Amino acid sequence: MIKAYAALEPKAALVPFEYDPGPLAPDQVEIDVQYCGICHSDVSMIDNAWGMTTYPIIPGHEVVGRISQLGGNVTHLAVGDIVGLGWHAGFCNECISCREGDHNFCPEGQGTIIGHHGGFADKVRAAANSVVPIPAGVDLESAGPLFCGGVTVFNPLLQFGVKSTDRVAVIGIGGLGHMALQFLHAWGCEVTAFTSSEAKKKEALEMGANHTLNSRDPKEIQAAAGSFDFILSTVNVKLDWNLYLGTLKPRGRLHFVGATVEPLDLSVFSLMMSQKSVSSSPVGSPATIAKMLEFANRHHIQPIIEKFSFEDVNQALDRLRSGQAHYRIVLCR
Ligand code: NAP
Ligand code: ZN
Repeated sequence: MIKAYAALEPKAALVPFEYDPGPLAPDQVEIDVQYCGICHSDVSMIDNAWGMTTYPIIPGHEVVGRISQLGGNVTHLAVGDIVGLGWHAGFCNECISCREGDHNFCPEGQGTIIGHHGGFADKVRAAANSVVPIPAGVDLESAGPLFCGGVTVFNPLLQFGVKSTDRVAVIGIGGLGHMALQFLHAWGCEVTAFTSSEAKKKEALEMGANHTLNSRDPKEIQAAAGSFDFILSTVNVKLDWNLYLGTLKPRGRLHFVGATVEPLDLSVFSLMMSQKSVSSSPVGSPATIAKMLEFANRHHIQPIIEKFSFEDVNQALDRLRSGQAHYRIVLCR
């Protein structure tokens, strides 16, 4: 039996929950979970905020652990390997997206916590090609958040060819945002952190931002008119997006990775007149995760974490819900 923590209904506290995973599929691995980060998407899934949760839900999709069992067809991994598992625990491997290496677009992709039991558990299973070995030198305690939050903010740098000469802003300095500042700084960009928290401004500078601005102060946002080549929004709330479009340079891009559920009310004219773009992207493929880990290792990029034991998962979730997490919570054995 696998021992886990599950929510039995929307917004409920997690309770101990055991399940029998049955025989291991030939293409799967089983991982002994050592660490698991808590992403805001875990909270949204527990609450059924996106209408796609099935209960009981075992959250957890920023897993670090050791492979304990291999399916019969798995040849590229070994028992004992240290690996990570992110948002996806499997892919169809046949669609055009999978064949082109864009596994994160696979319409049949298996979400680790969508109709599948996730990593708030002593063990988790996943397709072998959805887990990624962690290179030597990467700090294991803090590596979990790289597998969802980290790749989500790293992937757009590759997708859109962000250059070291670019001026880039990050909106929201939480779990995703604090990793984005570190990646962008290492990428060579001039980095601005938009935060609603005065207290985070000093630390944002230490994490690699060159400037900080208040994400909720229209005057400060207007004063940055025409500044940025690229803006990465990591917030899950509605802000005045037209104000932010005004801070883009011609051909600039406002890119959403934060899951704001309220529709965007954008002025087409402010896009049209200087050919601006608006876009969004989901996590990253396993190949991009591997590339991100190599880059993070080379540049000593590391999530800043708070540790909780798995037994204290409800306190950890409360802390994230209250906006106090500093900057990512990781459950530790
Ligand atoms: P988080 O740690 O809670 O950070 C979100 C940040 O948004 C907060 O730290 C805060 O930053 C800002 N924020 C929150 N409420 C705000 C408000 N009322 N006004 C202004 N700013 C506010 O969450 P996370 O784990 O980084 O996740 C962020 C979002 O990304 C979530 O929606 C999550 O579901 C989504 N996500 C998407 C993907 C993807 O594939 N695209 C992957 C992972 C996560 P400041 O304190 O600096 O203002
Ligand atoms: Zn996530």
